[in-house]
Amino acid sequence: MTAQEEARPELEVWIDQDLCTGDGICAQYAPEVFELDIDGLAYVKSADDELLQDKGATTPVPLPLLDDVRDSAKECPGDCIHVRRVTDQVEVYGPDAE
Ligand code: SF4
Repeated sequence: MTAQEEARPELEVWIDQDLCTGDGICAQYAPEVFELDIDGLAYVKSADDELLQDKGATTPVPLPLLDDVRDSAKECPGDCIHVRRVTDQVEVYGPDAE
């Protein structure tokens, strides 16, 4: 890991499934991070590619996928993708970002 990466706050992402429309935009942008389950809603995946089926589950945002995850949050029609800093839980992308 480079010094620059170490200095960057670690981010995690979670989805509020209660607001998910199931359109699948996030899974198109970042299929490594998001996937639709059989209930038609989007969930995040672990670093091991496992679908995390608990509502509101969080997963780390891999740095190479940050742009795709950020774009997913911006384009999400349900406004239900939340990207936040691990350290202080402040949302940086998503409906609750300042
Ligand atoms: S983009 Fe948002 S609303 Fe659409 S499937 Fe993903 S989380 Fe659900």
